[in-house]
Amino acid sequence: MSEAILIRGADVEGAGRTEILLVDGVIAETGVGLSRAGATVVDADGMVALPGLVDLHVHLREPGFESAETVDSGSRAGSAGGFTALFAMPNTAPPADTAGAVEQQLALGERTQRMHVQPIGAVTVGREGTHLAELGAMAHSRARVRLFSDDGACVADPVIMRRALEYVKAFGGAIAQHAEDPRLTKGAQVNEGTLSAELGLGGWPSVAEESIIARDVLLTEHVGSRLHVCHVSTAGSVEVLRWAKRRGVAVTAEVTPHHLMLTEQEVRGYDPRYKVNPPLRRDEDVAALREALADGTIDAVATDHAPHSDESKNCEWDRAAPGMVGLEVALRVVQATMIDTGMLDWRGVARVMSRNPARIGRLAGQGGRIAPGEPANLVLHDQAAPSVPVTAADLRGLSGNSPYLGRPLPGRTRWTLYRGRVTLRDGDVVETEEVRP
Ligand SMILES: [Zn+2]
Ligand SMILES: [Zn+2]
Repeated sequence: MSEAILIRGADVEGAGRTEILLVDGVIAETGVGLSRAGATVVDADGMVALPGLVDLHVHLREPGFESAETVDSGSRAGSAGGFTALFAMPNTAPPADTAGAVEQQLALGERTQRMHVQPIGAVTVGREGTHLAELGAMAHSRARVRLFSDDGACVADPVIMRRALEYVKAFGGAIAQHAEDPRLTKGAQVNEGTLSAELGLGGWPSVAEESIIARDVLLTEHVGSRLHVCHVSTAGSVEVLRWAKRRGVAVTAEVTPHHLMLTEQEVRGYDPRYKVNPPLRRDEDVAALREALADGTIDAVATDHAPHSDESKNCEWDRAAPGMVGLEVALRVVQATMIDTGMLDWRGVARVMSRNPARIGRLAGQGGRIAPGEPANLVLHDQAAPSVPVTAADLRGLSGNSPYLGRPLPGRTRWTLYRGRVTLRDGDVVETEEVRP
């Protein structure tokens, strides 16, 4: 049976209005004056159309912490935010450090049918940093793993990092590093500086991130491999990356929406919703990160969506788990910080939230382009929707630890389509049973 959807009036990546005809999960035609008998018509007048968003950095908590998030609930949150592919970090319990574990993760994603869930494999056994995990077996498994990370922990041992970088060369993989020298951040609670001293909280110094990035860039150049840097958070890291790219080192980097918008000043009220790792930084770091995203020094926006149950978040600052949810409103935060400030156009947003992440993760079948023959993965975003505060009803995962609750954000993500199936319909997440073909 042939299923057709005709999208009318959408502004494709800000380049002008085009009609988009989707047939059987594929973009069949773009242009003006398109028609198709029996097609469902979506009125996207005034909305911007982007290729389905791809998130390189998500914590889905299944298996092990299903009360905080599951693959299904996390992908519902993703659909609400315009995502059609998520990369799942391996810090589950047990961790995803074997071929069997990443295949299980892949299967959980396939069951939701609402997006592609791509497992990231652990670099070391148990994410303990001492013995390399079976990287080759994960790469050659059905999950086709190309990104490896011990995220939550840094691959701190330079010998292990070197071996991992050497190993992934064989299949075009990359190591995604959580850059944090653990010996420099012992007891750290907030960004190190005058504010940490004033609040009497342990400081997380920028150099703990920057020194690991510098080391890893040099190791990557030395062995001729590929490095991806997770959640870059400081102006100094941007300088190191700029230098590395000038040298031609194969390094890519991501920034989170929260590091593009929020500063350490938020932690003054000791509200654990603002506790995150790496921590919120200074105004000048935020400015440098925005500039780096605009000029291509930073390649991608990744949410680091990190759901936590109430028990681990609603407690005093010192004991609270670090992390924030971010999938549902990532595009709105990027609109506020990059579009509405004139630093990026919508084509740029398509690049940093769809094309680049798909390329960095070597994701097959996510075109990242709105063109005939590409899979019908799309998001329709109403950029003119008035700025309104984020409410609990906007969050579609199982956890409510969003730093944006009560904060006005512009725009509204209205429709998400994955392989031609509607997963977000005019702002409402479509139930999983309905998404399945
Ligand atoms: Zn991390
Ligand atoms: Zn993370």
